[in-house]
Amino acid sequence: MSLKIRILEGNSYPVIICDHCGETITDAEGGNTVWREPLKGGRSEGQLYTVQHTHKKCNWEFMNRRFPEPNDGTWNWMSHELQDDLFMLLVNTRYDAKEAKRKMGWTERITWE
Ligand SMILES: [Zn+2]
Repeated sequence: MSLKIRILEGNSYPVIICDHCGETITDAEGGNTVWREPLKGGRSEGQLYTVQHTHKKCNWEFMNRRFPEPNDGTWNWMSHELQDDLFMLLVNTRYDAKEAKRKMGWTERITWE
């Protein structure tokens, strides 16, 4: 699972870790969400898949080294742009930016890498 909590200066921050290189994905534009989806039977409504995340630069190598067994034709790699998925997560959770900012006023102190 690539969603982790990192402790910095005593505070806890969620971060997304690349499942290939283990580094933090600090630029959503440079990341992907990836998952394996079975081909047989097609998609079914409500189906859930476990996802992993990679830097775009790590994506191809991740897909080929993480599961080096030959694809037997029963599954396929799927991917989304991380930036798009983060937006959809905000929509799907009815994210309220104003309320979040009010509650998390301490984030003003965050210094990004
Ligand atoms: Zn990476």
